[in-house]
Amino acid sequence: MLVATGLTDELPDIDGLAEHWGRGVIHCPFCHGFEIRDQRVVQVVTHPMGLHPAPVLAHLTDQLTVVLHGGVEVDEDALGALARAGVSVERAEVSRVVSGEGGELAAVVLGDGRELAADVVVVGPRFRARVDALSGLGLSATAHVSGAGEVLEVDPRGQTAAPGVFAAGNVTDPMLQVLTAAAQGSQVAVAIAFSLAEEDLRAPERRGGNEADWDRRYADEDHTWSGNPNGTLVAELDGMTPGRALDVGAGEGADALWLAEHGWQVSAGDQCALGRSGALVYGKVPTGRASMSGAVPSFRAAPSDGA
Ligand SMILES: Cc1cc2nc3c(=O)[nH]c(=O)nc-3n(C[C@H](O)[C@H](O)[C@H](O)COP(=O)(O)OP(=O)(O)OC[C@H]3O[C@@H](n4cnc5c(N)ncnc54)[C@H](O)[C@@H]3O)c2cc1C
Repeated sequence: MLVATGLTDELPDIDGLAEHWGRGVIHCPFCHGFEIRDQRVVQVVTHPMGLHPAPVLAHLTDQLTVVLHGGVEVDEDALGALARAGVSVERAEVSRVVSGEGGELAAVVLGDGRELAADVVVVGPRFRARVDALSGLGLSATAHVSGAGEVLEVDPRGQTAAPGVFAAGNVTDPMLQVLTAAAQGSQVAVAIAFSLAEEDLRAPERRGGNEADWDRRYADEDHTWSGNPNGTLVAELDGMTPGRALDVGAGEGADALWLAEHGWQVSAGDQCALGRSGALVYGKVPTGRASMSGAVPSFRAAPSDGA
């Protein structure tokens, strides 16, 4: 399974901000840089990593204001370099974002009432990998190294902690864009193809799920069944002239034992090794009357008369 559920951008809780998300409010200078060049850009920094895109924004416009919202602490050295390069810096709360008459973003209002005219607001959302649907598989998101959110952790082949579950794209890394997310998807698809081919190659060596389930069931208790024959079997066959019987899926062998004791020549088979050893525990099958097999006997020809 390939998980490619992306992420949710959690925006800072600032009045009026969310309405402009993806147009007047953006997060990525590489996605929107061309459109915002030379405009009045207000960058609202809400977490320590939030200052990160500022140098690129300063490349795009001479009208950049950085607002350190809510007393957030950032790299003062980086901030100083921005200020010396002509970037305005405000240490203030942002109380709301206001729209113009046409609905376009118009300004950022600070806690002290001042209004910063703006064409664009840049924010750093928290990135939340969309993993809720995977909780049943024991998968959950963990912190991304950037500190900017949470991701679903994968190894270099895209394999998650759950065997057979792979992931690609923003769910694993918030820094990926369209091309890199798609490229990772392609890479992980190769890993999945190898994984499936390897699994098929080894299928003959692997025990079937059904077989393993039965072994587990037999392993839990000394005897899984009562040791009595099946009531329907007894009702149907009691009094019938014995012949040859084939017991497919004989389990612990109680039916085979009853048949043998009543004169039938029994071939009993079960794929489950523990079921067979359980059958041996009964050990009372009259000599020569029954054969137990580790596999269900296959018919290559029609059984002979009387079988
Ligand atoms: C405003 C904005 C602008 C951007 N502009 C650009 C740009 O110009 N250039 C660029 O390269 N990148 C841009 N990006 C980034 C780009 O959108 C992402 O990097 C890219 O879409 C990631 O692809 P993805 O397939 O990993 O995830 P997504 O594209 O997010 O796709 C995930 C899909 O999974 C679905 N999904 C989620 N949960 C479930 C579920 N439980 N079951 C089924 N389906 C589910 C979602 O509905 C969604 O369709 C922008 C991002 C934003 C937010």
